[in-house]
Amino acid sequence: MDKILTIQETLRKNAIKERDKMKSVAVRGAITAQNTKESIVSQTRRLLEAVLKANHIEIDEIIQIIFTCTKDLNAAYPAIAARALGITEAALMCMQEMDVEGSLEHCIRLSMLCTSGKETQHTVKHQYLGEARKLRPDLAHFSLALDGPAGAGKSTIAKRVAAELGCTYIDTGAMYRSVGLYCIQRGIDYNFEDLVNEVLEDMHIDLTYENATQCIYLNSDDVSEAIRTQEVAASASKVATYAKVRTALVDMQRRLAATKSVVMDGRDIGTVVLPKATLKIFLTASSEERAKRRFKEYEEKGLKISFETLLEEIEARDYQDMNRSVSPLKKAEDAVEVDTTNLSVEQIVTHIIELLKERQ
Ligand code: C5P
Repeated sequence: MDKILTIQETLRKNAIKERDKMKSVAVRGAITAQNTKESIVSQTRRLLEAVLKANHIEIDEIIQIIFTCTKDLNAAYPAIAARALGITEAALMCMQEMDVEGSLEHCIRLSMLCTSGKETQHTVKHQYLGEARKLRPDLAHFSLALDGPAGAGKSTIAKRVAAELGCTYIDTGAMYRSVGLYCIQRGIDYNFEDLVNEVLEDMHIDLTYENATQCIYLNSDDVSEAIRTQEVAASASKVATYAKVRTALVDMQRRLAATKSVVMDGRDIGTVVLPKATLKIFLTASSEERAKRRFKEYEEKGLKISFETLLEEIEARDYQDMNRSVSPLKKAEDAVEVDTTNLSVEQIVTHIIELLKERQ
C-alpha cells in the first residue's frame, strides 16, 4: 500500500514539475454588474467563460485568479462564479479596487494566471466586455482576418463585410502586386531576390480611400487598375516569397490595423500579421470553382483568357503560396474555415458578421 502511494506521489510530483516547466501567461478582463448576488455571479461567469474561450484555457491550467470589485459591488464574491465553473484548485482572491475619482462604476475586474500550451503573453486576448470596454479603448476596435487561396472570394466578402460594419478594408494582396508591378515597369527581373531587395526602398506604397473604395498608389501613381493583370499576379506571388518584402509590408499592414477597426484579407493575416485578430476566417473553394469565378470576372471585363490557363495559374499560385518558407498560406489554428463553393455571398457575409458579433 505504502509503495503504491509512493509511486502515485512520484507521478504527481513529476506531473507538477512538467506543468511548472510550461510557460505562464496572465490574462486580464473586466465587466460591469449590478449590486445583486445574481448579477455579480452571472456577469463574472460570462467574463470567465469569455477569457477561457478566447485563450483556449482549460480549467486545470489556471493557477490563480485575482478579482477586484469597485466599492459599489459588495453583494457577493465573484469567486463564487469561478467555483461554480469547477475552478476549485486555483488560488482565488477577491479584493476591492482602488477608488479613483471618475473611474468606471459597478465594475468587476480579473487577472488570471495560468499555464498555457497555446498562448504566449504576446498572443493573449484580454477580455473587456460591455461597458468595461471603455477601460481599454486601445483594445475596443476589432479586426477580421480573412485568409485563403486566390479566387476563394476574399476580396468580395471582405469589401461587403467592411461596408456593412462601416470599417476599413485592407487588401494586402494589392501591396504585393504593387511591388511586382514596380519591378515589371522598370525591367527588374523579380525572380532574383537580391534585385528586388535592392529597389525595395525606392518604392512608396500608399493606401487611400476614395468613396470608401481602396486606391493604391505606387510612388504617387494610382495603380489600382494596373495591378489587376495575370502577369502582375504571378510577379506578386513570387516577390511575396522574399523575407525582406514581407517584413516591410507586414509592418505597414500592422500599423494600418493598430488604430482602427479593419477587415484585412491576404494569405498570412491570421497567422502572422494579426495573430490577435478578433475573428479569423479561412475561405476555401475548389480550384475549378475558383478558376470559374476568375473566368467570369475576365469575361465581364471583356478580356479573353482560356479557362484551362486560369486553372493552371490558380494551381501554380496555390502551390507557391502554400510551399514558400516564409509565412506560407495556411489556416490559423483558431480560424473558422468557410467553404464558399456552394454558398452565396449573402450567406457568407451574414455568417461572418454573426460570428464577429459573438466575439465582441
Ligand atoms: O490576393 P491577391 O491575388 O491580390 O494576392 C497576390 C499575391 O500576393 C498572392 O498570390 C500571394 O502570393 C501574395 N500575398 C501574400 N500575402 C498576403 C497577400 C498576398 O503572400 N497577405
